[in-house]
Amino acid sequence: MKLVVLTGAGISAESGIPTFRGQGGLWRNFKPEELATPEAFAKNPKLVWEWYDWRRQLISKAEPNKAHLLLAELEGKLDSFFLITQNVDGLHQKAGSKKVIELHGNIWRVRCLSCRAEYELYEAPLKEIPPRCLYCGGMLRPAVVWFGESLPKKELSEAFELATRCDVFLVIGTSGVVYPAGYLPFVAKEHGARVVEINLDRTPISDMADLVIRERASVGLEQFLEKMLNL
Ligand code: NAD
Ligand code: ZN
Repeated sequence: MKLVVLTGAGISAESGIPTFRGQGGLWRNFKPEELATPEAFAKNPKLVWEWYDWRRQLISKAEPNKAHLLLAELEGKLDSFFLITQNVDGLHQKAGSKKVIELHGNIWRVRCLSCRAEYELYEAPLKEIPPRCLYCGGMLRPAVVWFGESLPKKELSEAFELATRCDVFLVIGTSGVVYPAGYLPFVAKEHGARVVEINLDRTPISDMADLVIRERASVGLEQFLEKMLNL
């Protein structure tokens, strides 16, 4: 069986990382849509970096949960298994997943606005906000994809390609409203895959999914694995 899994912020909720939608996602009363944009950064880089610094500190203390660990195990067990994530927290890799397609970048990477250098910066909390480029002293930005920006080409085409040739497409903890990632389950379905959703809430994917598991990610994934043989 060819399995492709798409994860969103909901899979990391049990690790204590707030999602963007749903409860607990606010920081100082700002909505993520007001901070995770190129316009917000251009207007107030300090404010945007303070938010990232808060998120980076939370993530640095977080551990992968059962759902991340089960997916890492599955990678070794199935002949054809691919993991695509919208998350930027790196918890799949921390859980032991080796092949992870990161559609929205990684919160530990930074990019220089002057010399374009891109590198990992694990300091949390940051000593200086906004942080400065190690090579040229220019201003750094998080190397993540903000609302309104394009996704990395290679990762995006790989993800769409995978969606067209899998037997089961499993979506865990994503609101499905951030595009183009939100199209992936629909592409999979059009190409004949069975779509399974694990989410606490109803999403635009729920109605077309072949199976919906209304549980938190860890419990839902355990149930899915039990049912998988019958799929
Ligand atoms: P989202 O915040 O839009 O939606 C989260 C979804 O997870 C919701 O549908 C919610 O019902 C569900 N959910 C919440 N807790 C859950 C749980 N315990 N188990 C299962 N489902 C649960 O997140 P998204 O769809 O990933 O898209 C938003 C964007 O936010 C992405 O681009 C992503 O990069 C970014 N983001 C990433 C992180 C992270 O890396 N951990 C955190 C927040 C946001
Ligand atoms: Zn630089």
